[in-house]
Amino acid sequence: MKLFPLFADLHDRPVLVIGAGEVAARKIALLLAAGAEVRVGAPALGEAVARLVRDHRVQHLPGHYTPDWLEGAWLVIAATADADLNHAIAADAAQRRVFVNVVDDAARSSFQVPAIVDRSPLVVAISSGGSAPMLARLLRERLESLLDAALGPLAALLERRRARIRARLREPAARRHFYSSILDGGVLGRLRSGQPELAERALDDALRVAPVATRGSVVLVGAGPGDPGLLTLKALRALNEADVILHDHLVGDGVLALARRDAHRIDVGKRAGGRSTAQDEIHALLLQHARSGARVVRLKGGDPFVFGRGGEELEFLRAHGIPYEVVPGITAALACAAHAGIPLTHRAHAQSVRLVTAHCRDSLDTLDWNALAQERQTLAIYMGVAGLEALRERLLAHGRSPQTPFALIENGSLPNQRVVVGTLAQLPERARAHAVHTPALLIVGEVAALAGHLHWFAAEPLGSVSAAAPLPHAA
Ligand code: SAH
Repeated sequence: MKLFPLFADLHDRPVLVIGAGEVAARKIALLLAAGAEVRVGAPALGEAVARLVRDHRVQHLPGHYTPDWLEGAWLVIAATADADLNHAIAADAAQRRVFVNVVDDAARSSFQVPAIVDRSPLVVAISSGGSAPMLARLLRERLESLLDAALGPLAALLERRRARIRARLREPAARRHFYSSILDGGVLGRLRSGQPELAERALDDALRVAPVATRGSVVLVGAGPGDPGLLTLKALRALNEADVILHDHLVGDGVLALARRDAHRIDVGKRAGGRSTAQDEIHALLLQHARSGARVVRLKGGDPFVFGRGGEELEFLRAHGIPYEVVPGITAALACAAHAGIPLTHRAHAQSVRLVTAHCRDSLDTLDWNALAQERQTLAIYMGVAGLEALRERLLAHGRSPQTPFALIENGSLPNQRVVVGTLAQLPERARAHAVHTPALLIVGEVAALAGHLHWFAAEPLGSVSAAAPLPHAA
């Protein structure tokens, strides 16, 4: 983080603005809105600043800048048109340990004024740390249209009711739930349509009926393949409401960064082959936190019901009477296929798709290889990287052609995605040559060859395969 974000209380505190043109006038208006005692130093005053001086809203220090102007100031804004003078002011302020902002000169400033969305008492501030002020302004405009104009009056109303809310809802989780329901409910609408009394009544009614204690619960959430953009809106909401998040190792930092900041996070990472929290322990953790009244999110890579043990966890929760919900996620097969340009079904090549796990030798033996080796279908094989030899051997032994195309997609949907393609005959050797690591998904079937000309995301596919003929365009 380049700059530390900070909201300063400037009420009745002296702030010095040097320069009295239009830029200075804009800064002064903000400072006055925050209740600062503004002093403006300049030999001559622009029209707007002159008016403020006449109205006794700011004090004027006449003449040319001298360092003693800085005396007693909590903040300084250098807004003169003279770059050398601005630099001198910045140096003097730094020497006195007074925070200084040099307008349009981030390098010489020790604080910056962010772009803001003002819904006072609620204020959203945005800064790019001087890297891209235009981007910050654009974001501000977007937020301006996203954030309800009635949020300001809502925050003020909630402030007036704060003590009452705290007294009735002692549990932080219950309060959070209440605030969240107020954001979605009718109070905001009434404020928006200029009916503050009705809004107050609606708030009081909601407070009267709000449950004082939350019942613990578990939401089983699919986090998708890693790209946060592939989370569902429901998943995002659950992440924002969670008190406790139990997540797998596969769940990326990008997704976790969107979760409620003060949620208690537990990595129960299950790495194939590596050390991981045993399923029993995960069950025990779910139970312990849900029974303490927490809203628990059990966050899993991809979809929780596709090779994710989601079923086992629900059975356990049901047996222990813990309420639960399930939010589906984009499973690796769908995400990898999309991001490799491989349509899983295609009129010319495949009429069905099978999701298969090739986790261990035992699971290989239980699969129906006659069915898996059939033509005109696509296999999406999870957890297969370690057993590619065995996969090839079984498919060939049961009659699949050695010329069948495959695509191995490593880190699907992430910026470091790699796609290795080839024919079934070449499968383990190709994967080894390109050092493919987990997580990787294997797609076997004619459609895999389409990656060669339909790819669009991240690096080009590695290797080649005599492409399956694309479907002739329908007349
Ligand atoms: N529930 C998950 C699957 C868990 S099993 C889902 O629905 O996607 C773990 C396997 O998923 C990995 O071994 C790999 O085969 C696959 N996988 C998960 N994320 C992946 C990704 N980003 N890229 C490629 N494969 C992935």
